[in-house]
Amino acid sequence: MKQAKKAWIRRLSQGFLLTIILLAAAACGNNTNQPADNAQTTDDSNADAASDSERISVVTSFYPLYFLATEIGGEHVQVVNLIASGIEPHDWTPKSRDLSTASNAELFLYHGAGLEGWVDDFLKGLSKDSTVVTKEISSGISLINGIEEEPEHEDEHEGAHEDEHDGEQHAEEEHDHNGVDPHTWVSPKSALVLAKNVMNSLVEADDVHQSDYEKNFEALKVKLEAIDAEYTEQLSQTKNKNIVVSHQAFGYLARDYGLNQVPIMGLSPEAEPRAQDLLDIAKFVKENDVKYIFFEELVSDQLARTLASEADVDTMVLNPLEGLTSEQEAAGDSYLTLMERNLQNLVQALQ
Ligand SMILES: [Zn+2]
Repeated sequence: MKQAKKAWIRRLSQGFLLTIILLAAAACGNNTNQPADNAQTTDDSNADAASDSERISVVTSFYPLYFLATEIGGEHVQVVNLIASGIEPHDWTPKSRDLSTASNAELFLYHGAGLEGWVDDFLKGLSKDSTVVTKEISSGISLINGIEEEPEHEDEHEGAHEDEHDGEQHAEEEHDHNGVDPHTWVSPKSALVLAKNVMNSLVEADDVHQSDYEKNFEALKVKLEAIDAEYTEQLSQTKNKNIVVSHQAFGYLARDYGLNQVPIMGLSPEAEPRAQDLLDIAKFVKENDVKYIFFEELVSDQLARTLASEADVDTMVLNPLEGLTSEQEAAGDSYLTLMERNLQNLVQALQ
């Protein structure tokens, strides 16, 4: 734990202001990610922590909500994340044991906006005796649509392509047809809204600890606002604004910080591009002096590497924060440290 925390802090050496804030927060933090079976759960190593029976049991659908619930819930919550580390959430579907985990919890937090194509059926499938309160955490965020047209080519194949995936996933199909971009959490500005919704959900489920949840939220808000300020300042100074990314996960980041997203794949990484799309993007890269193609760790980097070699540029990670790898989890990485690294990479790529 100590080691992990040290590594976590060391990574932030370039963001001085943020480091100070995080050091202060690390002193009072008492949660850690511990893989248990196929899920992440909070650790109860802190002697002061409430006993399990007194804690609110919270189940989250994917990593960013797990992060927010542990940060804001602190010692009063026991959080289980349904998706194990190393798993990319777009093609994850729940098993029956996930239904019983959620049925037995007091609070189930999911993102909504089409991220969890399985969630409508999941909510209907919860045990009839369950008293779990379910909350869609993206509510209140101004949603954007996925990219219809890209700079150098029409993207009209996307809708038709996704129509091939019919079958049991009704909700996902509806979402794809609407074309709503679910990746709100990638922008610190919308992460703040998610954090507030998580706080309100915790207060509703456990009003006895309202002041602690509010205090933890305020501490997290300071960190998210510091990241937001760094993104705003540093990205306003970059020469290039074009980010060529693995899948279309950075729409909210692009909107909030004046970038132009050019995705190789669609809103979900399964939707593979046509050869012509790749050639068009390679042409775009050459003509617009793009120096790096971004890839992500939970999805194969093959297309990004192919494209980079075609356009004769390098690759670099831009993390859509959909989940941690096992290595990142072991190293004590979090939404905050990965957002910090994303900014460093963006600045390097866009100079
Ligand atoms: Zn995604």
